Order: sequence, then C-alpha cells, then structure tokens
Amino acid sequence: MSSRWKLGTVQCRYQSSSVQGNKTYDMVIVGGGIVGLATARELTLRHPTLRLAVVEKENKVAAHQSGKNSGVIHAGIYYTPGSLKAKLCVEGLELAYKYCDENKVPYKKCGKLIVAVDHEEVPRLDVLYDRGLKNNVRDLRVVGPDEIREIEPNCRGLKALHSPHTGIVDWGEVTKSYGRNFQAAGGDIHLNYNVKEFRTTSDPDYPVDIISNKPDQTIRCKHVLTCGGLYADRLAEKSGCNPEPRIVPFRGEYLLLKPEKCNLVNGNIYPVPDPQFPFLGVHFTPRMDGNVWLGPNAVLAFRREGYHMTDFKLGEFIDAISFRGLRKLAFKHLAFGMSEMYRSLAMSAQVKLLQRFVPSLSPADVTRGPAGVRAQALDREGNLVDDFIFDGGVGSLGSRMLHVRNAPSPAATSSLAIAKMVADEAKKRFDL
Ligand SMILES: Cc1cc2nc3c(=O)[nH]c(=O)nc-3n(C[C@H](O)[C@H](O)[C@H](O)COP(=O)(O)OP(=O)(O)OC[C@H]3O[C@@H](n4cnc5c(N)ncnc54)[C@H](O)[C@@H]3O)c2cc1C
Repeated sequence: MSSRWKLGTVQCRYQSSSVQGNKTYDMVIVGGGIVGLATARELTLRHPTLRLAVVEKENKVAAHQSGKNSGVIHAGIYYTPGSLKAKLCVEGLELAYKYCDENKVPYKKCGKLIVAVDHEEVPRLDVLYDRGLKNNVRDLRVVGPDEIREIEPNCRGLKALHSPHTGIVDWGEVTKSYGRNFQAAGGDIHLNYNVKEFRTTSDPDYPVDIISNKPDQTIRCKHVLTCGGLYADRLAEKSGCNPEPRIVPFRGEYLLLKPEKCNLVNGNIYPVPDPQFPFLGVHFTPRMDGNVWLGPNAVLAFRREGYHMTDFKLGEFIDAISFRGLRKLAFKHLAFGMSEMYRSLAMSAQVKLLQRFVPSLSPADVTRGPAGVRAQALDREGNLVDDFIFDGGVGSLGSRMLHVRNAPSPAATSSLAIAKMVADEAKKRFDL
C-alpha cells in the first residue's frame, strides 16, 4: 500500500458547492454509490497521476442502494459456481474484512444460518451446500436441529447451513470511507451534480462535456465511467446505448424488532431461497446499531427512488409498465407478486412467514421499518439479468464511455473485487 493511502482516515470533506466554470479531468465517475467510489479509489491507487472526479446528484454519497440495504457481508453461497457473481463475492468478502480492519470501519462476524423448515426445502438446501463448496465458501457446514438451537436458541429447523464468516457492516460507512481514501489521494467529489447530458467537444484534449441540470455547471474530461444504480440504463442511453436491459425498481421493505426483543437472534437467519427469483427471501438481520431488521420483501416501486408505498412519479411509472419485459415478468410471476404486495400491506402476514424460523416471534414484537429500492435489470423477455454488464456507446462519444449497467446484490460485499474488474476494463478500453 502506498503512503498516499495511509492518509485515508482524514475527515470527509466532500465538495457540496456547485462546480464553478469549466473543470477538466482525465476521467469522471458518475455515481457516488459503493461501486462508483470503490472504483474511483481503485483507479487512483493504480494511476496516481490521473486527475479523477466523482459526480453525484445527491447532497451525500451512498444516498440510495449503498446506504439503504441489509448490511450483510455475504459469503458467496448462493451463486452459480463459476459465475462472475460467485467469484466476485467470495473475493469481495475477504477484501472487505481486510479493508475494514485497515481503515477501522466497524463490522461484526456474527455468522448466518440458512434454515430448511419443511422437508421439501431440504433438497434445495443440499444444492446450496454443494454450490457453497464449489464456490470455496470457507468453513460452511451442515447442521441439524440441535446445533441450530445451540447457534440460535430461538430458531427451529430440520437442517441448516452455517456460514461463520458471514458478517454485518454499515455499507454506507464503507462507501464514505472509500470516498475519504479517494479524496486523500487527490480525487474530487462533486455533490449535487445531476448529470443531464454528455456532449462531444471540439477540444482534442478533453473531448467530453458532462452537462448537469444547473446551467452554470459543466465538467470537461477525457473519459467517463457511469455507475448509476437505479438510473444506470438512463445514463447509458445518454451516450447512445441500447435502452435495454432496463432498470425496474423493486422496493424492499423491512420490519424492525422492538428493542426489548432484539435478543431473539444472535446472527443472520435466512430462508432457503426460491431459485426462480434473485431475491434471498425475508430474513432476520442484526444491524451494527443493535437493531434487528426483518425483511426485505420485493414489491414494484412506482418511482425509481420510491422508498414509501405512496411515492409515485407518473413518467417513471408509465415508463415501467409500458416496458414489455416488466409486463412479461408480471404475467410469469403474478402469484408471487400478489403475495409480496399483500405482505407489504399486512404486517401480520410477514410475521407469519418469519415465525416459521422463530416461532416465539409475535406481531406485537415488530414495527414498520425502513426500505431500500433494488435496481433490477430486466430484458425485454421478462428475464431478470443476474450478472454484471458493461456497455460503451456509439460514435466518438461512445468510445469515451464505460457504463456499469447492472451491479446487483451482493455488489456491496463484492465492491472491492468489482472495482478491480472495472479498473481492468477501463484500462483496456481507454488505454490508460
Ligand atoms: C434492499 C436491498 C438490500 C441489499 N442488501 C445487500 C446486502 O446485504 N449485502 C450486499 O452486499 N448487497 C446488498 N444489496 C445490494 C447493494 O446494496 C447494491 O448492489 C449496491 O449498493 C449497488 O451500488 P451502486 O453504486 O451500483 O448503486 P447506488 O448505491 O444506487 O449508487 C448509484 C448512485 O448514482 C447516482 N446517480 C444516478 N444517476 C445520476 C445522475 N444522472 N447524475 C449523478 N449521479 C447519479 C445516484 O444518486 C446514486 O447515489 C442490497 C440492495 C438493496 C436495494
């Protein structure tokens, strides 16, 4: 590690003022989420002489998915062996623990049980165990009912997988820490910079203008990398890319255990997931602040950053429902969608699902909690796009752009491994 990186613990000093006049950079990263900032950090580490900036439309980093998630450091059990998702998660977990130790970001290695409560779930649990082994998940074990009780005294089940290296962390704090490292190494972070358009310029040294929605703000640069989360498709379209895969927002709502009930669980308790869906199912997750979150479900959000049931944006809603891929998905999974909507409205139905694992849980033990919105990439046939996607663009503008179009869960866990992969891709495409 270079000495520049040892400066990484300085106080956060993100620029929140407008960009005055024309600023010039070698590369600008759009999106101050965990993927954008991990990559910005990796790029300054590899190319210390490049002038780099991150632009973020909100007044803080990690304002969306990266700051509103379950906070789990995943071990890599679920993903298809050999897939990029599996590889990046297993590598990402090791890098995340090392990073947190070196940068004094608090975490807890509280472990995780994936519990089969019905006989029909047992074969699916066995498949997961096999996947975990193939993915080289460390110290993954099969445990029976007695050991389930030893690990989680209030949990019941027929058989479970125990992953001792699964942990919890505040991914928003990790994102901020990446940002501090980036700034300490000379990178700029411009908040309140909402990218409206990319334009080619006649300047041979800095051929791209990044126009914001404020008239006095323009940044000029050589190359652009976008990591736009819920707006990843819209940013890619701005440089002439195909609008598909489209991002469809799925809200994940959590319940909270009342403080006096937070001792019901010690670590993470997860169901055996339904392999048809990319979501892991509602789970018990302890938080770094001592709370316990229960969830999330998965319901269609009526706007991309719609954290409440009543959040609605006409243009985004029409855009979503007029997309053939969403209509096909809704048709294929109508029953699942309806039951998720029902559980979103009826808290007791959500509790009933959780009582399968912790029978002593009662509706009186929970209150409504926060929500996050997943950026789910979807193709026109209604297939959920599960793995990482890069895109460029067309013409002279396109050759200057690299878009990260899909960084699904567990992209927070995988962020440092993803950053290495994106930095490799940027080097290849832009000849850095
Ligand atoms: C409910 C939920 C639970 C999850 N749980 C976990 C978990 O436990 N563990 C795990 O590893 N992963 C989890 N994930 C996944 C993980 O949080 C995401 O994969 C990850 O945060 C994605 O990061 P990102 O940087 O791509 O996106 P984001 O964090 O959404 O960042 C994108 C940024 O781009 C900015 N932006 C967009 N458009 C523009 C524009 N035009 N101009 C300027 N800025 C723009 C946005 O404001 C935003 O800040 C979960 C996700 C959700 C939603």
